[in-house]
Amino acid sequence: MSSAGSPQVISNLSSVEDDSLLVCEASDDCTHPIDIIVRSSDGVRIGTHKSNLFACSKGLVPATSRLDSFGSSSHTNTLQDVVLPEDSEVIQLLLKFTHYQPQPDLRLIGTNLLFRFANAAEKYCVYSATGVCNIVMEMSMKDQPFEVFQYTSTWGYVGLQEAAAKLAMAQCPAKFFAYAHSINRSEWRDLAEQQTHKLTTKEVCDSLREFCKGSEWPEVFGAWFQKRDTLRSALFFPLNNPIPVLHKGGSARCEEWHSFYPQLLGKMAVEVPCEDKFLSTLESLRPILKDCIHCGMVLKSMKERVHHGLESVVKKPLAEFLNH
Ligand SMILES: [Zn+2]
Ligand SMILES: [Zn+2]
Repeated sequence: MSSAGSPQVISNLSSVEDDSLLVCEASDDCTHPIDIIVRSSDGVRIGTHKSNLFACSKGLVPATSRLDSFGSSSHTNTLQDVVLPEDSEVIQLLLKFTHYQPQPDLRLIGTNLLFRFANAAEKYCVYSATGVCNIVMEMSMKDQPFEVFQYTSTWGYVGLQEAAAKLAMAQCPAKFFAYAHSINRSEWRDLAEQQTHKLTTKEVCDSLREFCKGSEWPEVFGAWFQKRDTLRSALFFPLNNPIPVLHKGGSARCEEWHSFYPQLLGKMAVEVPCEDKFLSTLESLRPILKDCIHCGMVLKSMKERVHHGLESVVKKPLAEFLNH
């Protein structure tokens, strides 16, 4: 797998641009002639040297460009631009690593740039950078487990992938669920899926849209939604059927119950159907019952039945809800 986009060669777009003014910015004391110009996705033109790119990377120079002026003297005003899908920050950093010199401390760059750079270094096989990127990515794992999991999955760092997966699954289950599905890791997808039922339908749907291709997400979302629906039914069965507990005077319910119960049903009808939400809603409404011990018994039974009912559905693998 590789990041999207590959280098393209285009003719110099503007005759106004004077390539002879381009200097190598990758190194303070570089004296090599500029014989190739790289244009970043944000439109910055950066001059560098084919020999360094050939020696320290793979794929940064498209095949069509290798045939022309490699090895010849620099005629910078006739150079073609190699357009890369990466932005200028990433390219400038990549080019530093194609020069023989002390390299920047990658622990000091922002996390977002680090991820972009680490992916580009892997994509173009800039081996002078990939090893140190891997170490710094591991250091970032606690704070950014999902991004590290994506990186390890894309580039095959299996050992680091396991550790990142555990953290990412706990920290951002919806994203992890969707991404694991998109890379066909159904065992991880199903583990994460069990954590997603504390989240809103919208959160899960948005993650699936973001990470799965057009034809993939509706089917898995359908299965997920069916499971959520089954969870809602499992929650509402004990809610709709509270056990009768005789109060003083022989009535099945007290006055307080008639005020408490419709509110419980009303709140849970619009809440995420999970045990945590049920318990917190119950506690928030409990003062209405004024410590009625008979109603307390009803709630105790309800809690146990909700727990068992939800647990039996949560454990079911998502595959049972998929149509194939
Ligand atoms: Zn240079
Ligand atoms: Zn009561």
